[in-house]
Amino acid sequence: MQSIKIMDEILANKIAAGEVVERCASVVKELVENSIDAGSTEIKVELKEAGTKEIKVIDNGKGMGKEDAVLAFSRHATSKINDEDDLYHLATLGFRGEALASIAAVSKVDLKTSEGEIGTHVVINGGKIKEVGQGDARKGTIITVSELFYNTPARLKHMKSLYTELASITDYMNKLALSRPDIRFTLSNNDNISLQTDGSGNQLKVIKSIHGSDVARKMIEVSGENDDYRITGYISKPEIHRSSRNNMVTIVNGRVVRNIDINRVVNDAYHSYKPDNRYPITVLNIEVDPSVIDVNIHPTKMDIKFSKKDTLLELIKSIVTDAISHRNLIPKADAVEPEFPKPKFENLTLELEREKPIITTDFYEAKAPVVEDNIVKEEIPYEVSSEPEVEDEIILTDDEETMPEMYPVGLVHGTYIICQNEKGMYIIDQHAAKERCNYEKFKKEMGKPNVASTALLFPIIIELSNNDFIILKENMQILRDLKFEIEEFGINSVIVKQHPAWLTGDTEYVIRKIIEIVIATRKDFDIEKFNEKVATMMSCKKAIKANTNITMEEMEALVSDLRKCKNPYNCPHGRPTTIFYSNYDLEKLFKRSGFDVIK
Ligand code: ZN
Ligand code: ZN
Repeated sequence: MQSIKIMDEILANKIAAGEVVERCASVVKELVENSIDAGSTEIKVELKEAGTKEIKVIDNGKGMGKEDAVLAFSRHATSKINDEDDLYHLATLGFRGEALASIAAVSKVDLKTSEGEIGTHVVINGGKIKEVGQGDARKGTIITVSELFYNTPARLKHMKSLYTELASITDYMNKLALSRPDIRFTLSNNDNISLQTDGSGNQLKVIKSIHGSDVARKMIEVSGENDDYRITGYISKPEIHRSSRNNMVTIVNGRVVRNIDINRVVNDAYHSYKPDNRYPITVLNIEVDPSVIDVNIHPTKMDIKFSKKDTLLELIKSIVTDAISHRNLIPKADAVEPEFPKPKFENLTLELEREKPIITTDFYEAKAPVVEDNIVKEEIPYEVSSEPEVEDEIILTDDEETMPEMYPVGLVHGTYIICQNEKGMYIIDQHAAKERCNYEKFKKEMGKPNVASTALLFPIIIELSNNDFIILKENMQILRDLKFEIEEFGINSVIVKQHPAWLTGDTEYVIRKIIEIVIATRKDFDIEKFNEKVATMMSCKKAIKANTNITMEEMEALVSDLRKCKNPYNCPHGRPTTIFYSNYDLEKLFKRSGFDVIK
């Protein structure tokens, strides 16, 4: 059966512009997407030297007959698009044909393919067919692209470092695996496997393959819908964050897309739960009627436009906000894995290790210990499985609704409050905790509709540099709207006579900072962001400094205030306020668990 058709010339030209082979990653992308289109359920990508030497893609798809196999490398061949209309309603991943010919033109290609009966073997060097013969009958396709750009040395120079090439291939494969959890993917470079998924359809398992089991356990499952959009997926707890936005993945109708607005809304929802320059790990699957979206037909880009963008962004915002509020987000301290004594106890420890942790005091014996998440971690090594990727189900920790009650027992270095309850021990950073309480109080006051203003007993004169002064003069109204009474006062100076009532603490310092913010933002001044910044700044300034001893009553009051906060888990800069050591963690740290503990 000949399913690849030669496209109409005009259509081919439209596509040609984008069909440029630039990098190893673009070759991998073309080959792997061909494998997906061939209905493969298993795809292996084997690289040598990050693909610069060789890229081999092995799939178990439907394969090609002899005629198609040869035609696949001719320009303007595609199996997917028949007329221009199709081009604008692309439901498939992209379109190829042109690309395979381009790849063949600048490399050495060896193709072995079969529909299950007669196999075909095609060898092409620099775009010229060298050999067409019989291959073996294994159903599927094995395509090897080697010595990329060997005949175009100028392009070869444009290749980035091996590390960069490998990083972009890995990034592409990770995202593809997330969008197709139903396909078994393997990616290796010089025989080192860097990604292996099980094709079980479980997206959380793919997250585990990419980020490891610790991250996978700390993902929160999310879902929601409105009239146009249905969203499912996973977002990381705020304690998990990375330095780049690259781990924020959006998948629309099964296709990974890039959308700045979605990333911004997701990241904003985490505001003050994590440091501003760090980003969460998220995977959002958006299902939508294809007529509501416009996928840019440029085949190398993944841009997308939504016709009802506002309702989508609102939905995403509410899903993410809901997921990270109303739950106990105190990060657990990473307990050290127990090391068991060697040979002497070998038989013994094997038995003991399997046992549940021994609970040490009578009080706790009445209740089941809250350690599910550790048990899962402990059990993984004992899973006997011939296939490494067939593993346990990842159990997402089921958090309690809010920050639990806890009781201070002491203060370390005038900095850390130690608390306890029946679950274990908590360490609270007193500055971060106080900062959070102040911040929420300030935000509330600043958000009130009619802010009162306070007259200064001694007006404050602030001198500025000449250009700052010019900028401030133009934007003075912003400060007046905020209930400041401020006027020009001599050369490059202003005088402040009244300030809004919420402004407390070191007045001069705070006013200077506020003027700096106004000068820095100017026309982009946004009251929300301004309040945010000023509340953060004042809360830090007003919080107890480290190395300050406070009384037990003050500690109790602080902990109780913190627990009343909307987000008690982070200071406004995103640092954690509280760290938790469960009883089990403590037992593990002291090597009490797993042994017959002497009471
Ligand atoms: Zn601070
Ligand atoms: Zn802080």
